[in-house]
Amino acid sequence: MSDQEDIGTRELRINPIVPTESVLIATARSMRPQKAEDAAPRDTREHVERCPFCRGNEDKTPPEIMHVPEEGDWAIRIVENLYPVLGDDRQNPDMIFGLQQAINGYGRHEVIIDHSQHGIAVHEMSRSHLSLLFRTYQTRMKELYEADKRLKYVLIFKNFGPAAGASMAHTHSQIIATPVIPQNIQDEVEHSKKYYEKHHHCIFCTLVDEALTYEATIYDRDSGKVVRKIDVGQYVVERGEHFIAIKPFASRYEWEVHILPLQHKSNFLDATQEELDDFANVLKRTMQRLDAVIGGAQYNYFLHTIPVDKKYENYQESFHWHLEICPRTSIPSGFELGSGLLINTVSPEDAAIQLSEVVLED
Ligand code: AMP
Ligand code: ZN
Ligand code: ZN
Repeated sequence: MSDQEDIGTRELRINPIVPTESVLIATARSMRPQKAEDAAPRDTREHVERCPFCRGNEDKTPPEIMHVPEEGDWAIRIVENLYPVLGDDRQNPDMIFGLQQAINGYGRHEVIIDHSQHGIAVHEMSRSHLSLLFRTYQTRMKELYEADKRLKYVLIFKNFGPAAGASMAHTHSQIIATPVIPQNIQDEVEHSKKYYEKHHHCIFCTLVDEALTYEATIYDRDSGKVVRKIDVGQYVVERGEHFIAIKPFASRYEWEVHILPLQHKSNFLDATQEELDDFANVLKRTMQRLDAVIGGAQYNYFLHTIPVDKKYENYQESFHWHLEICPRTSIPSGFELGSGLLINTVSPEDAAIQLSEVVLED
C-alpha cells in the first residue's frame, strides 16, 4: 500500500435525531468490507398468470379489506396477509418466567397490492396513482387506529426486490400494526422531543433549514487555511412545493434518501390532497433519480409518523412525519452486525450530487 493511496472519507457520523445511531463512512475501495449486492434482473412483466396479486387472480388471496377506486377495475387492493406475522392471538397469555418475557403476537398484518401491473416500478407509476396509493395508506391507517385501541402503531413499509426482503415479485407494500410502539419510532419521537425542549424548534425542521441554507467552512486553527468546506445544501436531492427529499449527512445506506414536508407537520394522517399530490411528484422524481444512478434499485421504504395516542398529544410540535427510502446495495457484514455500526461506502455528499445531477425528462 503506497503512502499516496487515497483513503477517501473515513469518519463516524452521528445521527442528529437518534445520537446512539451512528454510521461509519468509509469510501476507499480497499476498505470495503461488504459484498456488493448484485442488481437482480427486474421482472417487468405486466401480468403473470399464476401471481396471486395480479388482476384476475383475486381469489388467490385471503379476503379483501378494501380496493380503490370503488367503481370499475381496482387500481390498488388491500388484502389480509396469507402468512401474517401478527394476528389475533389473545387466547395465548403474555408470559414471564425469570428474565424471559413474551408478549403475545397480537396485531394486524395486511398486504397492499400497490398496482395491478405486476412488475411496474414506483418511478414508472403515474403521479396520480402514487398520490392515490398514499391516500389509501392514510385511509387504512386511520381505520386501524379507530377500530382497535390496542393497536399502538401502524407501520407502512415496502420491500422491493429480494435484496430488500421481498418474497413476492408483484409490486406491493405492507401494513403491520403492533400493540407496542416499535423502538425505532419511540427513539425518534423521544429524542426529537428532547431537542425541542432544549431549542424550542423541531429538529427535522432544523435539518430542512440547514439543507436549504447552510454552507460551512472549517479553518485550520493555526494557519487559518481552509481545511474543509461543507455545503449542506448539496444534500437536497429534490424539492416540490410542500416536500423536500434529502440525503442524510449520516446516511446508513449508500443511496438512502428521506422525504419530508417542508413545513412542520407531525401527522401523515393530516396530509391534504394537495400535499399528497406534491408528495407523489417528489417521490416519483426521487425514485427516477435513484433508478438512473443505481439502476433497478432494490429498496425498502417506510413511513414514520406521530403515534396516534393521547400520550403523544404534546409531541405535535417536535415530531415531523417522513418517508425513509433505503436502497439495499450491500449485505451487512459481521462487523456491522457485531457492532451495530453500519458502514456506508459512498460518501453522502457524492451520492447527493450524483442524484441531484440526473436530468429528468418531465
Ligand atoms: P414480501 O415478503 O415483502 O414480498 O411480502 C409479501 C407478503 O405477502 C408476505 O408477508 C407474505 O406472507 C404475503 N403473501 C404471500 N402470498 C400471499 C397471498 N397469496 N395472499 C396474500 N398474501 C400473501
Ligand atoms: Zn402479479
Ligand atoms: Zn418540523
